[in-house]
Amino acid sequence: PRSGFCKSNSVFYSKRKPIPLPQTDFLDVTTFILSRPHHGKTAFIDAATGRQLSFKDLWRAVDSVSMCLHDMGIRKGQVILLLSPNSIFFPIVCLSVMWLGAIITTTNPLNTPREIAKQIADSKPSLAFTTPELVSKLTESSSSLPIVLIDDEIGTSIKTKAKIVSTLSEMVKREPRESRVRERVNQNDTATLLYSSGTTGESKGVVSSHKNLIAMVQTIVERFRLNEGSHKFVCTVPMFHIYGLAAFATGILASGSTIIVLSKFEMGEMLSTIEKYQATYLPLVPPILVAMINGADQIRAKYDLSSLQSVLSGGAPLSKEVIEGFSNNYPGVTILQGYGLTESTGIGASTDTLEESRRYGTAGLLSPNTEAKIVDPESGKALPVNQTGELWLRAPSVMKVLDCLSWSQFAAKYFRPCPSYQQGKTWMLQDLQKARGTKVYGVCYFSNAEATSSAIDSEGWLRTGDLCYIDDDGFIFVVDRLKELIKYKGYQVPPAELEALLLAHPEISDAAVISFPDKNVGQFPMAYVVRKAGSNLSEKAVQDFIAGQVAPYKRIRRVAFIAAIPKNPSGKILRKDLIKLATSKL
Ligand code: AMP
Repeated sequence: PRSGFCKSNSVFYSKRKPIPLPQTDFLDVTTFILSRPHHGKTAFIDAATGRQLSFKDLWRAVDSVSMCLHDMGIRKGQVILLLSPNSIFFPIVCLSVMWLGAIITTTNPLNTPREIAKQIADSKPSLAFTTPELVSKLTESSSSLPIVLIDDEIGTSIKTKAKIVSTLSEMVKREPRESRVRERVNQNDTATLLYSSGTTGESKGVVSSHKNLIAMVQTIVERFRLNEGSHKFVCTVPMFHIYGLAAFATGILASGSTIIVLSKFEMGEMLSTIEKYQATYLPLVPPILVAMINGADQIRAKYDLSSLQSVLSGGAPLSKEVIEGFSNNYPGVTILQGYGLTESTGIGASTDTLEESRRYGTAGLLSPNTEAKIVDPESGKALPVNQTGELWLRAPSVMKVLDCLSWSQFAAKYFRPCPSYQQGKTWMLQDLQKARGTKVYGVCYFSNAEATSSAIDSEGWLRTGDLCYIDDDGFIFVVDRLKELIKYKGYQVPPAELEALLLAHPEISDAAVISFPDKNVGQFPMAYVVRKAGSNLSEKAVQDFIAGQVAPYKRIRRVAFIAAIPKNPSGKILRKDLIKLATSKL
């Protein structure tokens, strides 16, 4: 069947019309976007300065920058780091790098030098792009990385020991040569390396291919039916995250719409930008919707938001109260929802109308070309409609699968038994041997064999780590998170990272970090701490110890002391028990 639930194999097929995807082997996502017709004249507007970039200038800039990168020796497969807030230059860098077949890795500008250094050690970039404001953070993380400065063209003079090899404005000004060589890029080649903690452990590089990105771009263009190019989007979601990258550096750009860029979220600036540019679409995360509801009277009195047609919410669950609160306060605006993961290149499910959004609690219908299974985490059995289990996804946008490796190559490269995140189960050699002689599929994290093998499925399914059910009409409901991940205002906070830092404190003998629910931010990290004998460590001392080492969104905002951390026989922290304990008094 092409849509609905298939009883014989317990697979849910998308009810949305399938989208044709290009079948040519050699195609990169940049060329795919460049070759699309775009009717709108202006691609980007910088909200702060009013500076505009036409589609023509954008494509020319990509041409020049990729040529300069090639002249610098950047080739297919090399990694380029981008540390920058949202800007109209962000997509120029991404598209230029991907056009060469090189790989772009982005990082949150709020990250500390320690966190950036970790990503650099893992992804091993050959070159970095950053802004004058962030260059010192980058040099603190790595003193030897060559840097291209994303300058303001006016001539930024910065005193730094950084190894600055060029500036973006110099690169953009270079006249593209007629005859140029570049290696051919296969759709299976890697395009991006975004960092996510997946279902367990610390952040790791999600390996997404050009094919994944092309599938995502095509889905976005079809979903919003934006081909007319008459829409104006305000971009305040971060471009370093799959949400902003998928929408604004690739997908919505490909639709020919105009994108008005804010370097960071600030409520007043966002609202005055909507009014000034008569924006029609506004992608957000739930905490900003909550803030817009709370301040609705003042907002309506001060700003004319009548141009706004739709608000898109993604990255975290949206409650009935928020949908109704928003619809009541902003009656002309349709609230739509999207569900996805970094590992699925942002694609999963969505609501396309207010009526669909009003099936309260739903994340929408499966995206086109997407299949799903609901799997019982205990028995591993696929479940039928209306039963809750882990959502597994299979789609052309799901992160690069290792379909290029034979079993023996795979085993040689990746095999070693490792704990699965479920009940400390172990993937044994027999599991892998079943796949002998066939192609081996597995979602693939960069240079992280353990995470890769724990996510293996011989049929190419991605375990989302979300507990969901699918109703009779095919709507997905996200009930809870099976995986460890905490989401603070839509940002990822991996508990394992905070636990490792806590365990390094001389007065802490054990620790566990869990999510604590909060109406305004979604969830925040809370720590349970076991103090060493004789220690009088205070809650504040624990919070300050962490705050000094992590980006602000990862800070521990609540601490409780406990005699022992509850664990299962294989030593896995029983987080659900701790969450129950922490929230029992609410
Ligand atoms: P990230 O990789 O940072 O995009 O995080 C992906 C995770 O965010 C998913 O696995 C979900 O747990 C959560 N998420 C994203 N969108 C939604 C949504 N619409 N409803 C509920 N949870 C969501």
